[in-house]
Amino acid sequence: MSDHFDVIVIGGGPAGYPAAIRAGQLGLSVACIDGWKNRDGTYAFGGTCLNAGCIPSKALLESSELLHRAHEEFALHGISTGPVSIDIAKMQKRKEQIVKGSTQGIMALFKGAKVTALTGHGRLLPGRQVEFTAADGSQKVLSANHVVLASGSNPTSLPTAVFDGKHIMDSWDALDLTETPKRLGVIGAGVIGVELGSVWRRLGSEVVILEASDTFLALADQQLAKEALKHFNKQGLNIRLGAKVSSATVGSDGVTVAYQDASGEQSLVVDKLVVAIGRRPNTAGLLAQGTGVMTDARGFIEVDEYCHTGVENVWAVGDVVRGPMLAHKGKEEGVMVAERIAGHHAQVNYHTIPSVIYTAPEIAWVGQTEEQVKANGRAYKVGNFPFMASGRARAMESTAGFCKLIADVETDEILGVHIIGPMAGELIGEAVLAMEYSATTEDLQLTMHAHPTLSEALHEAALSADKRAIDFINR
Ligand code: FAD
Ligand code: NAD
Repeated sequence: MSDHFDVIVIGGGPAGYPAAIRAGQLGLSVACIDGWKNRDGTYAFGGTCLNAGCIPSKALLESSELLHRAHEEFALHGISTGPVSIDIAKMQKRKEQIVKGSTQGIMALFKGAKVTALTGHGRLLPGRQVEFTAADGSQKVLSANHVVLASGSNPTSLPTAVFDGKHIMDSWDALDLTETPKRLGVIGAGVIGVELGSVWRRLGSEVVILEASDTFLALADQQLAKEALKHFNKQGLNIRLGAKVSSATVGSDGVTVAYQDASGEQSLVVDKLVVAIGRRPNTAGLLAQGTGVMTDARGFIEVDEYCHTGVENVWAVGDVVRGPMLAHKGKEEGVMVAERIAGHHAQVNYHTIPSVIYTAPEIAWVGQTEEQVKANGRAYKVGNFPFMASGRARAMESTAGFCKLIADVETDEILGVHIIGPMAGELIGEAVLAMEYSATTEDLQLTMHAHPTLSEALHEAALSADKRAIDFINR
């Protein structure tokens, strides 16, 4: 192996590995260094997303949702079964196989793009040199024309509830539970809190989620957030807002969590406690003295809109830089950087990053919330369509939620789309594409949608923005 590459990528998660593959496709010589170590001691590329994030969480959401449907919905279809139960060990094994298949897939993709995969730790040295410490401890200094930093993020810890991996857990521990805890506490009602809370609730846990903010899903359109909270409460997710945790103590009865809310001091006893209060950029051991790469007050590597650090030919992408911590955002940044390195003029449209929360009902949005549009002082119109009025949703027995579209009154340009309901994460794709092309409400109105499909909800919401919806009474 040569010690010099056109590009060295440090980090093989969903930001780093696409950067490496795209650079390889463009004919550059590439090495991608990744040090992710699984709990069984094996190493795997794919980062948080494939090993302990997006993929395993979606596998468990799917299994637990099927169980829930078997309990709650089969009878409605006239399907009778014997007693329905779930084997948690088998469920976890399925998840592990999905993870393994996905991470092994990266190796095949690397081979196809002629990317050299290096397992171990990478540290940027001055002058675009990289110190590589292999898994066996041996060290080597590599050099590159360009270095891409893609070291991701780690869970934020809470000094008052220190992770012990057994009783006080992070999201990775919570994905790997081998039995259903009777009482599960979660600190943080963010994306992880509601997704993992939903998994274990459906599998039988009593779930209490303590959220410090008085506002539920503060980043989401608040009409959507209120609808979500209503459904989550109905499902038995006990979400307590304005709850400030002061301590968590492990004892013989489980974990006792002391917190304060509007009514005063409170206490909660649970068998397991998950802390999911956000994630922090991971730059531990990444930057040697004198590289010139800067981090901001919160530890994110500073970059411009093209993910360049300001140090010649050193780039950074994904969770370790500003912006939402989402796999697809990191992927687009990785691809953009690879293309810019190859001399192309790629860019990322940061205004059309979709967000999806994979609960039931599913939640998805793109663009501005109604609160943001209002704060910007823009004259706007809103179209709404309830899934109750969708023939397909009714056939699916999934009528909760709605599709909401916000557009500029004068230009008719779509400013944001917010969906809570069946397959919202799939439906949002059309809205992203529409906004990418600066579509107007009229463009969507004139686009034919197949019947009966869930996608008609977006069509009807667009029509409703001009009070011309067909399938429900315009308000
Ligand atoms: P990471 O995925 O964290 O990858 C960074 C990699 O770099 C890791 O393998 C790390 O070990 C390695 N590394 C770090 N430093 C070094 C070094 N010095 N040398 C060598 N290797 C190093 N996002 C979504 O878009 N959709 C979802 O459904 C979703 N679900 C999630 C569920 C959970 C439970 C969690 C925790 C996160 C979820 N996310 C989801 C967020 C998503 O996982 C992250 O946004 C994404 O993984 C970030 O990609 P990244 O490549 O920047 O970093
Ligand atoms: P988050 O930012 O989504 O939510 C954290 C929540 O914890 C917030 O509501 C915050 O107000 C609350 N909080 C903060 N400090 C607290 C405290 N001391 N006590 C109680 N509550 C507190 O973060 P997360 O849920 O940990 O997820 C981390 C990241 O992973 C997110 O940025 C998210 O984008 C990503 N993720 C994405 C998906 C997805 O795309 N479906 C799924 C999981 C995770």
